Amino acid sequence: MTRPTAITIDLDHLRHNFRLAQTLHGGHLLAVVKANAYGHQAVSCARALGKLADGFAVATLEEALQLRRATIRLPIVLLEGLFEAAELPEAIAHGLTPVFHTAQQLDWLAQDPTASFDALWIKVDTGMHRLGFPPQDIPELVERLYRQRGIRRLTLMTHFAHADGQHPQALEQPLQQLQRVLHSLPPLPDLQVKTSLCNSGAILGYPAVRGDWGRPGLMLYGVDPAAPTVPQRQPLQPVMTLTSRITAINQVPPGASVGYGALFTATRPTRAGIVPCGYADGYPRSARQGTPVLVGEVRVPLIGRVSMDMLSVDLSDYPHLGVGSPVELWGSRISVAEVAQNADTIAYELLCHLQRAAVHYREAHDSTQPLE
Ligand SMILES: *Cc1c(COP(=O)(O)O)cnc(C)c1O
Repeated sequence: MTRPTAITIDLDHLRHNFRLAQTLHGGHLLAVVKANAYGHQAVSCARALGKLADGFAVATLEEALQLRRATIRLPIVLLEGLFEAAELPEAIAHGLTPVFHTAQQLDWLAQDPTASFDALWIKVDTGMHRLGFPPQDIPELVERLYRQRGIRRLTLMTHFAHADGQHPQALEQPLQQLQRVLHSLPPLPDLQVKTSLCNSGAILGYPAVRGDWGRPGLMLYGVDPAAPTVPQRQPLQPVMTLTSRITAINQVPPGASVGYGALFTATRPTRAGIVPCGYADGYPRSARQGTPVLVGEVRVPLIGRVSMDMLSVDLSDYPHLGVGSPVELWGSRISVAEVAQNADTIAYELLCHLQRAAVHYREAHDSTQPLE
């Protein structure tokens, strides 16, 4: 058999999660498909959401151009904006929407009198202190863009530092800052101002906070950013399943060890099952022993160190499991958030580190969104 490690992407689940985000947020939604749609394949996901989403959001010009080359024509917001002046004409030529978050980026815009955008996206820093203009600078900046560039449509975007949706009290200050900005904008005729505030955590955890454009990422892929420490807040459906099969069994006598560095030493006769999935596939090397792996229908513990191309599990209690038994590393029965917690990281990181394994898609045969 060929190496049985594979990634399955369920596009119906993706659409289900998108609809849920839409119901919870209202208004318009940008589906965030940066980092290759968090490892879920940006082009396929964007196509699958083509009739539902109001637009997409990515981190880089290159990510946006990949979607344009795949003939995806919806608006695409560049969340990190432009990295150099030369990206401005390219962004305009491809109908992209960069977020402006530095004075230098606005200088590039000022130096190109032909540059125009349907709506200008400006990022306001409400306490993350990563990207964005200080709130007190916004009114003057808006007035300048209005008078000098004839900007009539603006979207003010902010991103909350407490982005997992678990700290409503931490939103008081950023929301106040935002309100103050909106109230202190000069009264300029015909100026239309929209807002974009919520990522997945805010959509799931801060129902009182909404803007005109939501920006869900992780939840579209079926993962609650607060999982697994809180019970699932909404019926999200996991989009990705990482599967494999047991390819070898090793009988380990008591006192002998398994894998690099003898991290696991058997205290009883142990049947170690070998799974051909390792950190080169994106399964985290930091996964602790005891991290659950589904073999057949049972959760068994990871033993020893995860190596580059494989990992080991303890099958001693399940003699009916052996070579050929199906394995789920994460998916609907072992959540990626649970594996992440066992590896001292977050689901975001595991999902976007996947590579090497073949990718398959699953969707209903009567889908109106065939893949090309
Ligand atoms: C990545 C990103 C998002 C999506 O965040 P999730 O937590 O995955 O929903 C939203 N807004 C900005 C600015 C981002 O960088």
